[in-house]
Order: sequence, then C-alpha cells, then structure tokens
Amino acid sequence: MKKLDFLVIGLVLIIVATFVGLFFNRFLIDTSKAKLEIVYKDMVIDSIDYKEDIDIIYEIRIYEEDLNRLEVKKKVGEIQYLSYFEVTSTFPITNIIHVTYEHTHMDDASCENKICMKGYMSTKRILPIVCTNGVIVRFVETKDHIDDVLVP
Ligand SMILES: [Zn+2]
Repeated sequence: MKKLDFLVIGLVLIIVATFVGLFFNRFLIDTSKAKLEIVYKDMVIDSIDYKEDIDIIYEIRIYEEDLNRLEVKKKVGEIQYLSYFEVTSTFPITNIIHVTYEHTHMDDASCENKICMKGYMSTKRILPIVCTNGVIVRFVETKDHIDDVLVP
C-alpha cells in the first residue's frame, strides 16, 4: 500500500473512534461528578458525593404500626443520623444499604424476589439498584456536568 492509503485509513479510524467515543459518552456517567441518591418512590431521601473514602450504612424502614412514616438511619462511622419522612405505604419495608466506593449494595431488603441483593454499584457499575418495595439507589449527574455535555 502507498503512504496515502495509510493516511486515509488512519483518518477514517480517527473519525470512527471519535464518533464511538461521543456515542458512549452520552450513556456513561462520570461518578466523580455524579451524586449517589437514595430514593423512596419519587422522594429523594439522601444525595451524597461519591468519594473514594465513602462508607455509609442506610437502614430504611417502614413499620407495620405506622405505614405513613419512613425511618432512615444513616450511619457514618460512629455517627448515626436519624430522620423521618412522611409516606403512604400499604406494607412495611426494610432496606439496609451499604454504600462504599467500589461496592455499593443491599445488605438486606424486604423485596420478595431479592434480586436487588445480588447486584452492586461502583464507579464502573453505574446501573441503579431498583427494589420492588419502592427503594432505589442511583447515580444522578450533577447540573454542571449535564451543561458540559449539552454545550461543548
Ligand atoms: Zn429489593
């Protein structure tokens, strides 16, 4: 092949790589710029930065005695935060979520199928954990980053 052929092939490869890169960029979340959200139904219970030293346990419960109250215990090291949210549920729930940088997962869940307990999330596994009892753990890109993408 001539030198020109290599040049043309090289250019085509660069163009293809650029388009593939742009295409996948839209579906990848940069977790360093994203927030991790703990959600119950449409309500955001907590929204946190996903840092390397992150280590939080969330215990989320609705008790049989009061189906209109969601209890959230957030444990960060020795410190424990307790908060309540007004909800309308027809059944009690329990979710224990362990958030770490490379392995965010459900330690316990009251879902019937327990599928949520099999998966995990990390900087490379960005798909949300969705529970049938209404609890969701998901990455959400922050506003700044979405602007970056839309206005190059
Ligand atoms: Zn579940």
